[in-house]
Order: sequence, then C-alpha cells, then structure tokens
Amino acid sequence: MSRIVRDPAVLEGYARDASGLRHVPEGLARPASRAELVEVLREAAAAGAAVTPAGAQTSTTGASLAARGLLLSLRAMDRVLDVDPARRLARVEAGALLGTLNHALAGEALFFAPDPTSDETCTLGGAIACNASGPRTLLYGATRAHVRALTVALADGTVREFRRPVVEKNTVGYQPTHDLVDWFVGSEGTLGVVVEAELALLPRPERETGIGIAFPGLVDALAFVRAARASTAIRPRCLEYFDAEAFRIARTHADDPAWGADGQVMIYAEDCAPGALDIDAWLALAEAHGAPDADMRVFEGEAAIRTARRLRHAVPATMHERTAPYLATGGRRISTDWAVPLAHAEEALLLSDGFAIEAGLPPAVTYGHLGNGHPHQNWVARDPDEVARHEAVVERTLRAVIQLGGTVAAEHGIGKLKARWLGLQANASQVALMRAAKREFDPEGRMAPGNILA
Ligand SMILES: Cc1cc2nc3c(=O)[nH]c(=O)nc-3n(C[C@H](O)[C@H](O)[C@H](O)COP(=O)(O)OP(=O)(O)OC[C@H]3O[C@@H](n4cnc5c(N)ncnc54)[C@H](O)[C@@H]3O)c2cc1C
Repeated sequence: MSRIVRDPAVLEGYARDASGLRHVPEGLARPASRAELVEVLREAAAAGAAVTPAGAQTSTTGASLAARGLLLSLRAMDRVLDVDPARRLARVEAGALLGTLNHALAGEALFFAPDPTSDETCTLGGAIACNASGPRTLLYGATRAHVRALTVALADGTVREFRRPVVEKNTVGYQPTHDLVDWFVGSEGTLGVVVEAELALLPRPERETGIGIAFPGLVDALAFVRAARASTAIRPRCLEYFDAEAFRIARTHADDPAWGADGQVMIYAEDCAPGALDIDAWLALAEAHGAPDADMRVFEGEAAIRTARRLRHAVPATMHERTAPYLATGGRRISTDWAVPLAHAEEALLLSDGFAIEAGLPPAVTYGHLGNGHPHQNWVARDPDEVARHEAVVERTLRAVIQLGGTVAAEHGIGKLKARWLGLQANASQVALMRAAKREFDPEGRMAPGNILA
C-alpha cells in the first residue's frame, strides 16, 4: 500500500483523541483527494484491512481511534467547495473544520447552525458522523437537520451519493428506509466514509446577545430554564448551566471575580429575536426565579458572544487539563452525555450525585445544555481503580436515566467507551436492525471496528 504511513512516531500522533483511550493504528492514510481516498479503500479491501475514518480526533468516546487496521485521516480534504447564497447551501469536503465554514460565510450573512463547543477544532465530517450538537441546538436542532446530501465512499471503495427526498409525504414501507442520509449521520464511521456534504445554511440573526445570570442553586436555575422555555416574552437560543465549580472556572477565565458568589450557579442564555433586546423581560423572569439581585452579565454582539463561548469552552478544557497528568498512569476524564426530559433533570442529577457519594467519590463538575435536559457531568479519575469506580456510578446513572425516559448519549455518540451501554438504550430488535444496516454497507465488518456495535 503505497500511501500508507507505518512510521511508529507518526502513528503515535494519531493514537489518542479526547477520550483518554489509546489505540496505535497499524497504518495511516492521509488522502488529499477523492481519487486517493478511493484507492486507499480499494487497497485496504484487497488486504482485508479494517479502516477507521478520522477527522480532527476530538471525539470524547474513542470513536476516532483505530482499534485495528488503518486510520484514514480526512484532514487533508479540507476545502469549502462551493457556497450558494441564493439557495442557502454549502458544499464541503469532509475534512473542512466547522469553524472554517462559518468564517467563510461571514460575508454572506449566512451561517451553519450546529455549534459543538469544539466548532473551531472539529471537522464537518466528524460532526456529521457524530450528529454533533451544541448549546444552540435548543433552537436550531442538531447537525442531522442541516445535512441535505452526502457523498460517501463505502468499504470497497464504491462512491455513492445520498440526497434527502424532497417529497413531503411518503407511505412506502418502514420509515427508517426512507432517507439514507439519516443512516450515515451519526453512524460514527461504521457504514462508510463521508467524502463531501451539502449543508443547509441559515440567515445570520441581525442581533445576538448573550446573558449570564447567577442563581442560588440548581433548583432555581432549573425553574428559570423551564420558565424561559415556556415564555412567550423571550425566545432563548440556548440555556446553558454552570454548577458552582464550572461557574468558578468560567469566572476565572472572565477575570471577573465580582460576578456571582461562591456556591452560586449560572445560566448562560442567548437571545437573537428580531428587534431590540427586551432586557426587562429577562430580568423579570430571572428575579421571579430566585435571582433577586439579578447578578447578570450581558454579552452584546458577535465578538462578545465569542468571549462568552470561550468561557463555556474553558470548562471542558480545564477538565481535560486536570486529567492530563493522570493519563500516563491509566487515569482519564470521565464524562457523561446523557439527557432526560427536562421535567426529570433535577431528579437525574440528584440521583447521580447520590450514587457518587455512596461510592465515596466527589460530586461531578456539571455544566452544559440544561435547556435540552442535557447536562454534562465530568470527573477526574486518577488511576484505573478510580476509572472503574466512576464507571460503576455512570452505569447506575444511565440505568436511572433510561427509567426517566432519557438517552445514554445525546451528542457525543457511542464510540468505543459507551458501546457496552448500547443495550441499555436499544432493545434486541433495534440492535439487530443496526447490525443489518451495517451488513448492508459494510458486509465484511471492516469500517470503524469497535464503534457503536462492539
Ligand atoms: C473540548 C471539547 C468540546 C466538545 N464539545 C462538543 C459539543 O459541544 N457537542 C458535540 O456534539 N461534541 C462535542 N465534542 C466532541 C467532538 O468534538 C465532536 O463529536 C466532533 O463532531 C468530532 O469531530 P472530529 O472531526 O474531531 O471527529 P473525530 O473525533 O475525528 O471522529 C469522530 C467520529 O466520526 C467519524 N468520522 C470522522 N470523520 C469522518 C468521515 N469523514 N466519514 C465518516 N466518519 C467520520 C470517526 O470515525 C469517529 O467515529 C467536544 C469535544 C471536545 C474535546
């Protein structure tokens, strides 16, 4: 295989993602064109080698690591191929960064709405393969809703084009067969390689305002979140939660010690409704839900919103930093990605804290998409024993989450780390259906082994 790198020093650079797992690939391919990519897949097929596609390797679940065989990096295929402002569409290569697309759209008054916190560092192919989402999913939905068509390369090198049907009604057979774009979005590299994508764009809002509000605790913050979602006076685009520790991290990065007291939590919201910001409506709602002094920060305009996003990003980034010293001794960051119906968010978090206390572990640092009933919990596990104890707590939490009508993975996918929990969520028939889809596109089971269907 002419294009395959076997140098151990180079391979080591592709052995880790943000999961804390380590898998050194047996070889590495970095195609710079569709033709090269197809050639690599054909050669891999002839050799019976497994292939795991990878973008920027920001996966938190080990999905971007090659458990066996080759790692196929898409980073060299990074062009924004075409922007059609009139039809509000963009065509991109899979290795283009999500942030790069939005920078390219700056002059068009358009934007690509999915906003994983990692938007400046993750590829569009990776976002599609994980159905990535972010704070603004509250208003815009996840990546799936913004993908119009995909060009994919299958394990044998065959290139296929899938386009969403434009009919508005369809009664032909089982719904999961109606739209093959949906099969590939969220398939984590297990069905084939996303080569190019046609993406839907939205008009950029005329005004964007971020609002950070301190609350005495989770109960008040949640009551505010529910009220904000139900309100007709305001229309939040995101409702993000920072527990006391996450708020402390954000304050440190904001260099704003006067904001909030120790023990207080924070909700970060964005308002982009047409017209001027109705700050009085936000203040009234906050004060009605336990923020009597309305300790509020307003981030007006694009640059200020970017600052606010940096504060939000500081939380997972800090948890990564805190974990880094323990990676070499078998520790890693433990993070959850479950979601529950908003009505059960408090119950789920309290249950989980209780499980941690029973196991003699510290409470999690909790932050994220509370507006979607989707908080992230993070812990630093310092060695394999702590990893095992934390994972037992996570599994108890996930079982409770399922009972509450939730999901074990709401945005980071299943990957390798959560594959053992697939059976908590999907029953035997649902798993069999997934296996049948996998057999259809990848009959030899060579694509992204270990992801989803371990
Ligand atoms: C600090 C931090 C914050 C994050 N915040 C968020 C967040 O807010 N929301 C969120 O959803 N995620 C988040 N993530 C997770 C991650 O960034 C996303 O899942 C992202 O979409 C992965 O993109 P990537 O290019 O890094 O893909 P990779 O990590 O390289 O790969 C991820 C998966 O996609 C597959 N894949 C990649 N490219 C292709 C392709 N071209 N064809 C087929 N399969 C492919 C891989 O096989 C793998 O299964 C965060 C991660 C970090 C480290």
